[in-house]
Amino acid sequence: MRRPTRRVLVGHVPVGGGAPVVVQSMTNTDTADIAGTTAQVHALWQAGSEVVRITVNTEEAARAVPIIREKLDAMGCDVPLVGDFHFNGHRLVKAVPECAQALAKLRVNPGNVGRGSKRDEQFATLIEAAARYGKAVRIGVNWGSLDQDLLARMMDENAKRPTPHEPEEVMRNALITSALDSAKRAEELGLAGDRIILSCKLSGVQDLIKVYRDLAARSDYALHLGLTEAGMGSKGIVASTAALAILLQEGIGDTIRVSLTPAPGEPRTTEVQVAQEILQTLGLRSFTPLVTACPGCGRTTSSVFQELAQSIQNWLRGQMPVWRAQYPGVESMNVAVMGCVVNGPGESKHANVGISLPGTNETPVAPVYVDGEKTVTLKGERIAEEFQAIVEDYVQRTYGKGSS
Ligand code: SF4
Repeated sequence: MRRPTRRVLVGHVPVGGGAPVVVQSMTNTDTADIAGTTAQVHALWQAGSEVVRITVNTEEAARAVPIIREKLDAMGCDVPLVGDFHFNGHRLVKAVPECAQALAKLRVNPGNVGRGSKRDEQFATLIEAAARYGKAVRIGVNWGSLDQDLLARMMDENAKRPTPHEPEEVMRNALITSALDSAKRAEELGLAGDRIILSCKLSGVQDLIKVYRDLAARSDYALHLGLTEAGMGSKGIVASTAALAILLQEGIGDTIRVSLTPAPGEPRTTEVQVAQEILQTLGLRSFTPLVTACPGCGRTTSSVFQELAQSIQNWLRGQMPVWRAQYPGVESMNVAVMGCVVNGPGESKHANVGISLPGTNETPVAPVYVDGEKTVTLKGERIAEEFQAIVEDYVQRTYGKGSS
């Protein structure tokens, strides 16, 4: 059961209020590089990102935003853009009003909008710009840039308690207080509650879970979920999945971002793929047909089975930008690629289309099952191509327009 929250429209994409959990991502290009940023936003969108955030850190970047929007629209890419503002956001929204107008949402970090007496005024400038142009705002608190005045005050108050809390607990509480107080202030400044999304990001899994449980219990704002600075490769994927899966399972989180550090040469779109796979494996949404594959063991001595599992998964993912529109429902298809006949036929029968490759010392034939029935046995050098053709034919027959 999803936790009931207010529904926020980020451009045309609903977030919260029972809407499906939204996948978002962020570019790592210099936003002033219009061509590079447009291309990366487009790639993230093609990979399935439903909202894309871009950095707005200079006047040049702010001036690039409406041009990037225009270029994306011309390419038929309507993905809502979010502007990430820190330190000088108040100046940029004043100097370049077309920037905020072109965005669907502004991300404001209460810890980075200014210090002392300037903080409130600069925060107000950003919120008023969003309210004026009818934009959503994410109040995005991050433990690495937590409002230090607030933290110091809460630490002092805690020290005066008869039994003070642990400093970590005060820090978690300060994150939540920063988000909730900022949201209240934004509403006082005229931003409607159904234009506000909150996030409180940390890099520790257990801390993140505690903070979001508390945040969810204390408000009904839509929540953006993400583990900040998750890291590279399997570490980042596992940490993000561990944190997000627990919270999503409890109905907490209306939009997610997986903050992966790409390895050199790795496409930025990996973070979109991971976010989708988290939601799909939890059974919350479907994005791409999944390949069920056995891990392989001593019965699979050749790499044919791994190569087939990988090539089918890559091929299925590569088809999705076209298939999504052409074959509605294909995203929930299951394909099984199994290494031998021990579990192969059983698993294949449960998939929409399944194949069991021959294991060591087995007859070199590969039985194929379609919707639980054995339809053909493949053999020879072209098993991979023939199996792909069977899957393609199944997709056309089952999900093509006019199919029953
Ligand atoms: S299905 Fe066969 S190859 Fe795959 S893990 Fe099981 S026994 Fe090994």
